[in-house]
Amino acid sequence: TSRRVTECLGRNCFVIFTVLAVVAGIILGFAVRPCGLSPTEVRYFSFPGELLMRLLQMLVLPLIVSSLVTGMASLDGRASGRMGLRAACYYAATTVIAVAIGIVVVLVLQPGAGGSRHGPEGGAPGPEGGAPGPAKVERVQAADAFMDLIRNMFPPNLVEACFKQFKTQYETRLIPARFNLSSPTLSLLENSSTSSSTSSTSSSISSSSTSSTSSTSSTSSPSMEEVVVPVSGSSSGINALGLVVVSVALGLVVGSMGPRGRPLRDFFDCLNESIMHLVGIVMWYAPVGILFLIAGKIVEMEDASVLGGQLARYTAAVVAGLAIHALVVLPLIFLAVTRRNPWPFIGGLLQALVTALGTSSSSATLPVTFKCLEEINGVDRRVTRFVLPVGATINMDGTALYEALAAIFIAQVNNYELNFGQIITISITATAASIGAAGIPQAGLVTMVIVLTSVGLPTDDISLIIAVDWFLDRLRTTTNVLGDSLGAGIVEHLSRHELMAEEGDEEEAGLKG
Ligand code: ASP
Repeated sequence: TSRRVTECLGRNCFVIFTVLAVVAGIILGFAVRPCGLSPTEVRYFSFPGELLMRLLQMLVLPLIVSSLVTGMASLDGRASGRMGLRAACYYAATTVIAVAIGIVVVLVLQPGAGGSRHGPEGGAPGPEGGAPGPAKVERVQAADAFMDLIRNMFPPNLVEACFKQFKTQYETRLIPARFNLSSPTLSLLENSSTSSSTSSTSSSISSSSTSSTSSTSSTSSPSMEEVVVPVSGSSSGINALGLVVVSVALGLVVGSMGPRGRPLRDFFDCLNESIMHLVGIVMWYAPVGILFLIAGKIVEMEDASVLGGQLARYTAAVVAGLAIHALVVLPLIFLAVTRRNPWPFIGGLLQALVTALGTSSSSATLPVTFKCLEEINGVDRRVTRFVLPVGATINMDGTALYEALAAIFIAQVNNYELNFGQIITISITATAASIGAAGIPQAGLVTMVIVLTSVGLPTDDISLIIAVDWFLDRLRTTTNVLGDSLGAGIVEHLSRHELMAEEGDEEEAGLKG
C-alpha cells in the first residue's frame, strides 16, 4: 500500500504542490496584509509571481505558432476542416449559452436594482429607456470595433504581430483616475496623454497585478484624467488572433505540399517539442509563482467592506453565473457528447485551472493546459495542437458571460430599462467582445467598451466594477480555460474516426516506405 501511495503522490505531485501553493498563498497574503506594505514593497513581495507570468508568456508565442503549424500539417485538409468545423460549433454554442446564462442571472438577481443614478452627464441613458444621447457616434465606433476584430485577423506585418496588436480606433475621454491606477487595463493607455498612468505597461503583455502597483505609487493625480482609450481590441504583447490565422493557413499549406513541405514541418515539430520541454521546466517553478501571485494580490486588495450592496450583489451574480456554466453546463455538454464522466477529466486539468486562477491569463496558462491535456488526460496531440491555441484566443465563455452580465448591471445601476432588441445587441456584442479580448489579465474589462457603446451605456461606468474585477477576472479566466480544455476532449471524441483513419494511412505509408 505504501508503494502505491508513493506512486500516486509522485504522479500527482505537481497538482498537490499547486493546490498547496494556493492555500499557502492565501494564508501568507492574509498574514502579511496587516503589515500595511507600501506599493513598492508589494511590488517586491510579488516579484516571484511576476517572474512566473513572464516565463509563461515567453513560451506562448512559439507555442501557438509551432503547435498550430504542426497540428494542421499533420492532418489532411479534409480532416482538419472537419475538426475546425466541430471546434467552431463547440465554441459558438458554448459562448452563446454562456451569454444567455449571464443575461438570465442578471435579470433574475437584479444586482443593480435600486440604482438612483441617471448616468453621468454627456448623454447617459435616461430612465424612460429612449435612445441615449450620443448613440449615433457610439454606434459607429462599435462598427469600427467589429472591423478591427477582422483587421486583427490579417496582420500586415508578421514581425509586428509578434509584439503588437493592430489598433485603429482611439477616442479621448475623461475617466476617473482610479480607472487607470488600479487596473492593468492601463496597458491600453500606452498612448495616454497623461504621463502618470503608463509607467509600467507599454504594449507588453506583462500587465500583471504587480505592474499596476508600480503606477499607483507614482501618482498623485486629480480624480479625473483625460486619456486615450482604444475603442476596440485589447493591447497584448502579441496579436494572437492574427498569428492563429497565419499559422493555420501556413500549416494547411505545408501539409498539402507533401515531401516538399517536410523540412518546415520538421522544423516546427522540433520547435514545438523543445518548447514543451521548457514548459516542463517552468512548471516546477509554477507553484512558487502562483503562491506569490495570490499572496501579493491579497496583500494589495482593497478592503472588502468598501463594497457597496450593489457591488457585492453584482459579484455574487457573476460568481453564480460562472459556477452554473463551469460546474453544470460544460460538464453536462461533455457528458452528453462523449458519454464519459467529466469529473476525472476535469481533475486532470486541475493544475491548468489553478494556474489560470493564479495568473488571470488564459494565454499565459496555455503551456500548462497543453501539459495537462496531453500528459494527464491523454488527448491526441493532433487535436490539442489545433484546438487549444485557437480556443485560448477566441473561445472565452467566462468573459462572454461576464460582459453581458456587467453591461446589464450597469444599465440597472443607471435605471435604464433595456428593451429586447438591446438585450440581443448586448448578447451579440458580448460574444464579439469575448472573441476580441486577448487572453491577458482584465482584457474583458476593456472590450466591455464595445458592449456598452453598442447600446449607448456610459463607458465611464466601467469604473464602478473595477474594484472587484481582479477577483472576477480570475474566475472567468478559469472558466475560459475549462471551456477550451473540455472542448479539446469533445473535439477529439467527435474526430476519433478520422484520427484513426489518418493513423492507418500513415502506417501504410510507413510500411510501403
Ligand atoms: N483574463 C481573461 C483571460 O485571460 C480575459 C478577460 O479579461 O476576461 O482569459
